Amino acid sequence: MKIISANFEKKDSHTLAVYEAGGGYAAARKALSMGGGAVVEEVKKSGLRGRGGAGFPAGVKWGFVPKGVDQPVYLCVNADEGEPGTFKDRHIMEKDPHRLIEGIIIASYAVGIHTAFIYVRGEYVFQIARTQRAVDEAYAKGYLGPDVMGSGFALDVVIHRGAGAYICGEETGLIESIEGKKGQPRPKPPFPAVVGLFRCPTVVNNVETISALPFIINEGAEKYASLGTPKSTGTMLFSVSGMVEKPGVYEQEFGVNFWEFLEKRAGGVKGGRALKAVVPGGSSSPILTADEARSATLDYESLAEKGSMLGSGAIIVYSEDVCLVRALAVITRFYAHESCGQCPPCREGTYWLHRIVKRIETGAGTMSDLDLILRVCGNMRGTTVCVLSDACAMPVESYVRKFRSEFEEHITRGGCRFPAETG
Ligand code: SF4
Repeated sequence: MKIISANFEKKDSHTLAVYEAGGGYAAARKALSMGGGAVVEEVKKSGLRGRGGAGFPAGVKWGFVPKGVDQPVYLCVNADEGEPGTFKDRHIMEKDPHRLIEGIIIASYAVGIHTAFIYVRGEYVFQIARTQRAVDEAYAKGYLGPDVMGSGFALDVVIHRGAGAYICGEETGLIESIEGKKGQPRPKPPFPAVVGLFRCPTVVNNVETISALPFIINEGAEKYASLGTPKSTGTMLFSVSGMVEKPGVYEQEFGVNFWEFLEKRAGGVKGGRALKAVVPGGSSSPILTADEARSATLDYESLAEKGSMLGSGAIIVYSEDVCLVRALAVITRFYAHESCGQCPPCREGTYWLHRIVKRIETGAGTMSDLDLILRVCGNMRGTTVCVLSDACAMPVESYVRKFRSEFEEHITRGGCRFPAETG
């Protein structure tokens, strides 16, 4: 079933006229007549979980905002989308920005928010222009501004461009960046719901999470909760890349078997080759062997049982002829580059992991490097301000533990046997 991507194939789907012709903004009108508390309850009942990576229930998160405080409350929509392999939010902003804006109205009204920021990665130039045009249309129609739809509720939406740092997708790094500071995460607690943007209570939700709200309000929490599995309700946009026949973004109800999804939606492994491994939830999720992936279902619980995670729903497929050592060298280079540097285990660990993996890839590694990698990973887990350190250590550990023989082969033969174009 298509919820978020229902309009993606329509001509001029990004315009207000097309969005409204399909029933757009009816949910915002309905929400404005329900009362904020009822909207929060509806979202809680739907079981909607955050689609940015952590999978935390959205309605519960909203419930952490203190009531009756003498401060503004802010909404930050996280459109930073920097996790390697993830490219779903850009489709929403490009093809259906009004769904996002309607979701922002619903969330803001529910929590009592009058200023919402959309924090977008700066590289999304086209998507920013599309979303800004949609925001302008919504203002012109009275759907944003001092009197949203004649309800007396005031809401302003500001698009804020990021400057290209992965760590600004972490909620407190994002908040620091909007405040005009270096994007370095803050220690938690306090959590943003209590002390966030400009030291005020702040809700941070992902683009896809917010975009699910119009359906939930229109169709009801029960309908949404009936989709997927009891604990992973609804649908998710999966970004599929790597060695597949049809890479792309696919909306899928939770609970489907991974192999069935890969074959039916993404056309299977490229060129009919054998599956070697799968990264199920973006580059920071631990890798799955082909057997683990085949028996997994696409939902939070199944992937956690397999020792990995659903994350941002970014599925990267490796076929039999892909060199996992080279793939890991690319991933570690990314994390070493993106560490903000304030925690030594992360700053040093990501750098050293990349150096050691690269050494093995080029044929200059030794067998003791493999245990050294695992020791470095152990020192990076759970010791830092944010999860970037873990996000690097977790996949590295999984690649080395599950595909150790491939690393050993690089060491014994002094390099890679896979062709450069696939490896
Ligand atoms: Fe910065 Fe890494 Fe520490 Fe996160 S874990 S705050 S990215 S140094």
